[in-house]
Amino acid sequence: MATGGIGRVYEYTTNSAIATGDGISMAYDMGADIKNLSYVQFHPTAFNNRHTRECFLISEAVRGEGAYLLNCHGERFMHNYDDRLELAPRDVVSHSIVHESRKQNSTEFYLDITHKDSEFLKNRFPMIYKNLLDQGFDLTKDRVPIFPCQHYLMGGINVDRNAQTKIRGMYAVGECSHTGVHGNNRLASNSLLEALVFSRQAANHIAANLDSVPDSFAEHVFETNEDKPLIPKGIRTEVRRIMQESAFVIPDKEAAVRGFERVKELRNLIHSENFCRNTDYVEANSLVTVAYLILREII
Ligand SMILES: Cc1cc2nc3c(=O)[nH]c(=O)nc-3n(C[C@H](O)[C@H](O)[C@H](O)COP(=O)(O)OP(=O)(O)OC[C@H]3O[C@@H](n4cnc5c(N)ncnc54)[C@H](O)[C@@H]3O)c2cc1C
Repeated sequence: MATGGIGRVYEYTTNSAIATGDGISMAYDMGADIKNLSYVQFHPTAFNNRHTRECFLISEAVRGEGAYLLNCHGERFMHNYDDRLELAPRDVVSHSIVHESRKQNSTEFYLDITHKDSEFLKNRFPMIYKNLLDQGFDLTKDRVPIFPCQHYLMGGINVDRNAQTKIRGMYAVGECSHTGVHGNNRLASNSLLEALVFSRQAANHIAANLDSVPDSFAEHVFETNEDKPLIPKGIRTEVRRIMQESAFVIPDKEAAVRGFERVKELRNLIHSENFCRNTDYVEANSLVTVAYLILREII
C-alpha cells in the first residue's frame, strides 16, 4: 500500500483529491492493524479563501522571516499563547489560532509580512508571491487571509521496521503507513524522508524473502455491481462536515460522540445495501471508514 493520506475526510486540506484513505480503508477491511489514526497534523497558515477544498499552503518560512499573525482586529495575539510567538511549532500555532478564533468568535486571521523589503520577499518566496498574486493578494503589500487546515496523517496502517503489516505479504509505505517515527507531531520535511527509508526497507525485505513467497495467493474478486443502484448523494459532504466539527485541531468530544454514531449509521448503510461499486462508492466507503477510525479513538 502506498496510497497517501486522508486529507479529504476534512472540509479543508492541503492534500490533493486522491487523499481519501483508500489503502487504509482496504487494509482495515482485510484485518490489518490501523494505529493512531487520530494523529492528524493541521498546518496553521493555509491560504483561506474557503471556496476551494484544497488549500494552498503558505510555508512556515514566511513566519521564519518575520511575518506576524493577526486576528480579526488586526492585532498580534501569539504573546497570549506562547513565548515563541509566531515561531512556535505548527501544532502550537494551530491551537493558538483556534483558541483565539473562539475568543473573538471569528475565523478571520491574517499573515502580515508587509514590513519587510518587497524585493527581498519576491526573491525569497517567488512561488508563494506568484500564487497569492493569482488569488488577488500581493504579499509585499497585503495581509494574507489564513486559517489552519488538515495537512498530514501521522497514524495509518501499522508496520514494522521492514514496512510489513500484520497481513502476510502486505507492506505499507508513505503517508498511509504508521511507522511511529513521527509520534503525534511530525517535524516539517520528515515525511518524505520516512517514505524513502521505509520503501527501501520494504524493497530489501521483499528481495530477501522472494523464495518464501507462496505460488499462489487467495483470490479476491471485487464485484462492481454495475446494475445496482448508486449510493445516496451527500455522504462524503456529511462526513466532512462531521469531521470538521468534531475532530478539527482541538477535538470536540461531544460532537465526536454524535458524529461517531452517525458515521456508524453511514458505514452500516454502505455495507448493508447492494450498491454499484463505482469510484463514488469506493471513496465514500473510504472516507466513512477513516472517519469511523479517527472518531473511535477520540471518544
Ligand atoms: C502542500 C504539501 C506540502 C508538503 N511539503 C512537504 C515537505 O516539504 N516535506 C515533506 O517531507 N513532506 C511534505 N508534505 C507531505 C508529503 O508530501 C506527503 O506525505 C507525501 O507526498 C506522501 O507520499 P505518498 O507516496 O505516501 O502518497 P502520495 O504522494 O499521495 O501518493 C499516493 C498515490 O496513491 C494513489 N492512489 C490513492 N488511492 C488509490 C486507489 N484507490 N487506487 C490506485 N491508486 C491510488 C494516488 O493516485 C497517488 O498516486 C507536503 C504535503 C503537502 C500536501
